[in-house]
Amino acid sequence: MAENKDMSIYVHIPFCEQKCNYCAFASFCVNQAQIEDYLNDLCQEIEQRKVDNPIKTIYFGGGTPSLLSPEQFKRIVDVIYKNYNVYDNAEFTVEANPNSITEEKLDMWKKLRVNRLSIGVQTLKEKNLRKIGRLHDKMMALEKIKLARRQFDNVSADILIGLEDENGKQLAKNASMLLDLGVKHISCYLLEVYENTKLYQMIQDRRYKPLDEEEMIASFNKLSSYLQDKGMTRYEISNFAYPGYESKHNLNYWARGEYLGFGLGAHSFVDGKRVANLDSFAGFKAKKTEVEDLSETEQIEEIIMLGLRCCLGVDLTKLMALGYDITLNSFYKDYIQEGVLTQEGETLFLNPVFYHLSNTIIANLLP
Ligand code: SF4
Repeated sequence: MAENKDMSIYVHIPFCEQKCNYCAFASFCVNQAQIEDYLNDLCQEIEQRKVDNPIKTIYFGGGTPSLLSPEQFKRIVDVIYKNYNVYDNAEFTVEANPNSITEEKLDMWKKLRVNRLSIGVQTLKEKNLRKIGRLHDKMMALEKIKLARRQFDNVSADILIGLEDENGKQLAKNASMLLDLGVKHISCYLLEVYENTKLYQMIQDRRYKPLDEEEMIASFNKLSSYLQDKGMTRYEISNFAYPGYESKHNLNYWARGEYLGFGLGAHSFVDGKRVANLDSFAGFKAKKTEVEDLSETEQIEEIIMLGLRCCLGVDLTKLMALGYDITLNSFYKDYIQEGVLTQEGETLFLNPVFYHLSNTIIANLLP
């Protein structure tokens, strides 16, 4: 185990009340007995992998962590706090869907030291909410955010980009309603359509028409300008926040900080090794994992990919230590001259104006 560096904890809750039509994640609609069985294995894993390192962030993701009952939620939190040294001011995020947010749960989360909510809004357009199979309507999403904001200052909302008829103007209108309610952070995800989903079938049958790639990028750019005009910073390709409300948990991932992931399919990163729990109930129960020992080239690629996609940038000394002088790359000089890249001391940044071209730029800069 690494020396006493700060770490993060991720807890995966792979259950949902209903499968959304676009969802290709490992999420399951199951009964209470199966949830209890999973929680037994999960709590056991949390106990068994105990470390002394101080914990700076905790993140409950899914799936839908907000569907857990107060007792179930408390049970997991108690195991964490009993076994780990969690900082008093640790960021503690829970992902929540509007339909499973209740006053009782908000009270309980608050009592259990949760201080950040990430709410799966996706859209405020009624037709799209129905078509993608969400369990809330516009009114419910707004009401629940209002309710959550009474107790939580730090509320984030997820937005999907690429839904039918949702151009930049509509996205900005949706975003303005969220900001008016005091949302401090917005994560934007491009709609990806996977073959094994209902949405894919709907598109095949011409019952749904998402935006094409060009429209999607134009809408994203419009939303991005809107959010930045409102004072938010695009601190990562898909994430916008008012100053001070950036997700510390995600920043730890992008900085290649260490973290422990508990639960089905959860990933951990400790001592330069990536370890993944299997994403089946049987595999998780049997404690099976897949270990990935990164080669030097893979580490270089990861440092470049993670650093350039966010405000942290790439620490050039780390690349040099791994034997890669990026300044000798054939694209480097031009990118600096064109303002695509900026070098400040030993840190290299991608100009956020070029985030939409990041895949190509990053690919060109790899060894
Ligand atoms: S709530 Fe999220 S994880 Fe659950 S089915 Fe919908 S998209 Fe998938």
